[in-house]
Amino acid sequence: MDQDRLQRLRARYTGSGAFDADDPALRAAADAIRSPDGKRSLPYSGVPTFLGLPHADTFAGLDIAVVGIPMDLGVSNRSGARLGPRAVRCIERIGPFHPTERRVPAAGLKVADAGDVPFRSRYSLQESLEDIEQHYRALHAAGVRPLSVGGDHSVTYPILRALGAKEPLAMVHIDAHCDTMGAYDGSKFHHGGPFRLAVLDGVLDPEHTIQIGIRGASNMFWEFSHVSGMTVIYMEDFMRMGLPAVIAKAREVVGDRPVYVTVDVDGFDPAYAPGTGTPEVGGLEAREGLALLRGLQGLNVVGADVVEVAPQYDPTTNTAQLAAQVLFEELALLTGKGA
Ligand code: MN
Ligand code: MN
Repeated sequence: MDQDRLQRLRARYTGSGAFDADDPALRAAADAIRSPDGKRSLPYSGVPTFLGLPHADTFAGLDIAVVGIPMDLGVSNRSGARLGPRAVRCIERIGPFHPTERRVPAAGLKVADAGDVPFRSRYSLQESLEDIEQHYRALHAAGVRPLSVGGDHSVTYPILRALGAKEPLAMVHIDAHCDTMGAYDGSKFHHGGPFRLAVLDGVLDPEHTIQIGIRGASNMFWEFSHVSGMTVIYMEDFMRMGLPAVIAKAREVVGDRPVYVTVDVDGFDPAYAPGTGTPEVGGLEAREGLALLRGLQGLNVVGADVVEVAPQYDPTTNTAQLAAQVLFEELALLTGKGA
């Protein structure tokens, strides 16, 4: 080793602490996790919140509220996504520094875990969807942008009704399923159909909606996506096009319109996210999904969610780990250049 370099390293780093970085971005990141007494808080200690954010009793005064929606009355197969918010809250060590953005997304903004949507009854899907819509209408009226954790995918329909009431939204949707199915078993409300309902209600613009990662046993139900004008990227398309082309397509479909980002964790391969109600093999790798979300930086994102985490099917906790990282990526979108 070059002896001059060794001398410089000794002069600079002998006795230097863990938070002592010269690069301003790394310094800011270190400052974000250092307590005033120079210690680092225990990641596995204390009352868990989403991304370790401060807890707020109300969303009033916040710029961005992370909201849990522990409701899975809309599932068609295995239940359990009602336990998703708790599982994601218990994931430690996500952020606060974003490695490719090289910034702390929440810095300078009021971002907090604003608790869960209050529900009137644990037994009624329709009432629960009404409760969600009312909560998000109040949040939207207060100028707060929501970052949500489900719950099954039926919860995104009332969120779109609240956020898209004045102007139909564009949408980037990662999922194994298009979720544009019609009514069956006597219910038009279920996790397989929120985006058909949202289009028919005039709160979602299908011509500026892209669905990515579609595959599996339910493809016969997605005719509405094509007929309404949505861009559907099946898994085969994804592999043929490659990630950069898929990102470019998503950006082209959305343009500069207000856009909602929704991630069904079953869009990822069950190897990475087995903890979900309707797994479909052959999905996105974790790193592909994260890179896809990072590729959306600069879009005018008005809200985002991650849904369908059913932690009891995944003793490794990897599904919740991935969902928490997705939530953090979405926070970076909500605080990005287009925000
Ligand atoms: Mn799905
Ligand atoms: Mn879905």
